Amino acid sequence: MVNIKNHLLSVERPAQYLGNELNSVHKDKFKARMCLVFPDLYEIGMSSVGLRILYNIINRVEDFSLERAFCPMEDMEQLLREEDIPMFSLESKTPLFEFDIVGFSLSYELSYTNVLNVLELAKIPILREDRDESHPLVMAGGTCTMNPAPMQDFLDFFVIGDGEDVMPEIARIFVENSSKSKLEKLELIKDIDGVYIPSLHKEGRVKKAVVEDLNKTEFYSEQLVPYIDIVHDRAVAEIQRGCTRGCRFCQAGIIYRPVRERTLENNLKLIEETMNSTGYSEISLSSLSSSDYTKIGELLEKLQERFGDDFIGVSLPSLRMNPQSVKVAESIQSGRKTGFTFAPEAGSQRLRDVINKGVNEEEIIETAEAAIVAGWQNLKFYFMIGLPFETDEDIKGMRDLVVKVVNACRKHTKRLNITVSVSNFVPKPHTPFQWEAQMDFDEMRRKHALLREIFQKTKYTTLKIHDMKTSYLEGIISRGDEKIGKLIKLAYENGAKFDGWKKHFKFDVWMRCMEELGIDPKEYLGQRSFDDKLPWEVVDVGVTKEFFLRELEKAEIEALTPDCRETCAGCGMKTRIAKCGDFVSDKLK
Ligand code: SF4
Repeated sequence: MVNIKNHLLSVERPAQYLGNELNSVHKDKFKARMCLVFPDLYEIGMSSVGLRILYNIINRVEDFSLERAFCPMEDMEQLLREEDIPMFSLESKTPLFEFDIVGFSLSYELSYTNVLNVLELAKIPILREDRDESHPLVMAGGTCTMNPAPMQDFLDFFVIGDGEDVMPEIARIFVENSSKSKLEKLELIKDIDGVYIPSLHKEGRVKKAVVEDLNKTEFYSEQLVPYIDIVHDRAVAEIQRGCTRGCRFCQAGIIYRPVRERTLENNLKLIEETMNSTGYSEISLSSLSSSDYTKIGELLEKLQERFGDDFIGVSLPSLRMNPQSVKVAESIQSGRKTGFTFAPEAGSQRLRDVINKGVNEEEIIETAEAAIVAGWQNLKFYFMIGLPFETDEDIKGMRDLVVKVVNACRKHTKRLNITVSVSNFVPKPHTPFQWEAQMDFDEMRRKHALLREIFQKTKYTTLKIHDMKTSYLEGIISRGDEKIGKLIKLAYENGAKFDGWKKHFKFDVWMRCMEELGIDPKEYLGQRSFDDKLPWEVVDVGVTKEFFLRELEKAEIEALTPDCRETCAGCGMKTRIAKCGDFVSDKLK
């Protein structure tokens, strides 16, 4: 056990290292244990839905202990290095190297160097090949593992897909076989869906893990409650998983297929139990598209009934652009109306059809107007540039759309603020656009200048453009192969870490390292051939290459694919989960 007590008063926000939050689990007796590390600061990691779910569920496994760690802040890291204190878990202050498993949650490519930093601070060799029987097995889960290639030199195994069945199963295997060697344990988990072991799975593909019915999973109502501010300081209930809209750029829409709803009764029970065991007065009803949940109206009504005057604050992180959503948002707003968010993604109808966004101009304007009439003054619009088949006319379409929104809304209010937030499209693995080229710097610069020019005189509007360099690196890593793993290591050795934080991002280091390794960014950002074996094809997400190609062809001719709640588009998921499409509340009775 590490003695950190005496140092706590000399670091910023010491409460983040205490590990004794409400609902934290401290087990004295166990046969196997794991430290779950979120490779970013406490305030970010503690807001992660996945961490909340897994911490609660895995700790229910008898004789298995799951503890947590986050990246230390700069002052704590310096202290660990100066005092030669190994990186420790929050709950028992045990050095990470004493655990059976150290598991990272990977949700953002620009946190990869933090993984290496944590390993180094924990005195665990960074490379898998340099570790022996005395070291823990190092694994990762999370959305980024859908392309394991860039991180596979560092990790012993990956858990790809839904974790709430697989992780407890792995935990039980480790409990029952605690005296076995690391290799023997890996052999025992090798055939579980979702488990990818680079040293053992040399050929073939690994199926992502899928929880078929959310209603059959364990509740995670005893959620951790931090003592200090975190980014999303509220309880969370995932009301459904997956999305049926089929936006062609969206990786989450593919990898979380099929859509699975929790029944109304189950959601109510989960929410009530969570509120009771955490004391939170606010809960986020999380989903990729919350207003698509078939019983959203009833759910909100029942919550009002059940909690009466103490009606809990509810936040819905993602709403569709239709006036119905405004009604939903209105019913949950308790007085203060902050920003109302729209994500048309593309400015012109043509390009919205290319990406299969499934929303038209009238709906967007009508929704904006409804939001203003309902009392919102700040509207946020999210767009992307650099989408496949985009022309400058599509970019100018953003301004045209915003002007129409301004004209429609000004009839109802004198105070109007519209924020136009534009990001740079990054083609992601396992999407119909996975073969497409990403903008290079010249193209980004030109398009950013065009954006600034067209929005310069647009009234009531503030333009925000996402940083070019961050998107550039994200593009290289997300479609990277094992060579990118070497780049991550070299960049880390040259001082890169917290790359997702503007103040820490050392883009020059990355560029220099690419040059040193002879890595041509164009190879990763350019158009891929349909015949190439893609690094992420080792993962079978259940959606076929034929479907992706079909969707890409349809994108080119601006043809829409209907929401698969209406018509099954034959993406391939049904061959894996025969009941795909039937996991909506009405059919779950
Ligand atoms: S198999 Fe059909 S219903 Fe299921 S996710 Fe694919 S398109 Fe949707």
